[in-house]
Amino acid sequence: MIVGRFAPSPSGRMHLGNIFAAMLSYASAKQKGGRWLLRMEDLDRQRCRPEYAETLIDDLHWLGLYADYGADATDGTALQYFQSQRDEFYLSAFQKLRSLGAIYECFCNRQDLMASSAPHLSDGHLIYSGKGRLLSESEKDVLRASRRPLWRLSLPDVVDSFTDGHYGPQSANLAHDRGDIIVRRADGNFAYHLAVVTDDALMGVTEVVRARDLLVASHEQRYLYSLLGYDSPAYCHFPLLVATDGNRLSKRDRSLAMDVVRQKTKPEELIGLLAVFARIQPSWHPMSLAEFVSRFSWHNLPQEDIIVDVNNLF
Ligand code: GLU
Repeated sequence: MIVGRFAPSPSGRMHLGNIFAAMLSYASAKQKGGRWLLRMEDLDRQRCRPEYAETLIDDLHWLGLYADYGADATDGTALQYFQSQRDEFYLSAFQKLRSLGAIYECFCNRQDLMASSAPHLSDGHLIYSGKGRLLSESEKDVLRASRRPLWRLSLPDVVDSFTDGHYGPQSANLAHDRGDIIVRRADGNFAYHLAVVTDDALMGVTEVVRARDLLVASHEQRYLYSLLGYDSPAYCHFPLLVATDGNRLSKRDRSLAMDVVRQKTKPEELIGLLAVFARIQPSWHPMSLAEFVSRFSWHNLPQEDIIVDVNNLF
């Protein structure tokens, strides 16, 4: 059984880019007879709010996107799909990594990081030097008196390779190209990679469909799967929606937020627009959700980013 998922962060109103992610993950799973689940990635307690989760679900339902199980369930299980409620699972994954000796405390502050890390790569990813790995117990005791450490995963000097369902063969050296990632923050909160891998594994996700900005991160996530004793899912990344200036569409552009979009369009009109982005149809016509699902094809979707003329949409 194929299980796909949509895993948004309820940190504001969804915009066109989020809806595109929801539609592609839904269509990809559903056209293969699979299931689709909805998970709220609300680990960041400062930015995420329950009311954003509520409007997010309302926006998905407005489009006809109902999860087979997940955060919109009405049978009392919904909270199990909110990351903020799942610390016990992350803690046991964390303890497993600790017992394997795969994680270590890192006391570096931002200044130390900038000084000791490799320069920013084009995707803004900072490669941590691994300095914390070399600390002795007595050095750590001294540091503990003044700082709370975060925890990093040691990424080994090995090449990870996999084939993305849309972008094809991918390879990266975990230590040199990715660097030691954070699994738990200094405030005790678990970090994205640990949570996403634990959840996708425990929720039986077999197919991860998400935007291509997370393509490279799949390498460290695959490594986490192997340490935790799980099989990695299949990955299918899709191109970003970008404005005519090449910048990714973002929450800052209010005209693309779902409250504004819903005032201007009907669900089938919006689905028809997303179908143009996905190259399901060459020009805009309303389309039903069922037709989008049956006609969506990874093969027709471009690899290059999709330019959206924000001022000329509706
Ligand atoms: N929660 C992430 C986001 O809002 C997506 C994580 C994922 O798909 O792995 O972009």
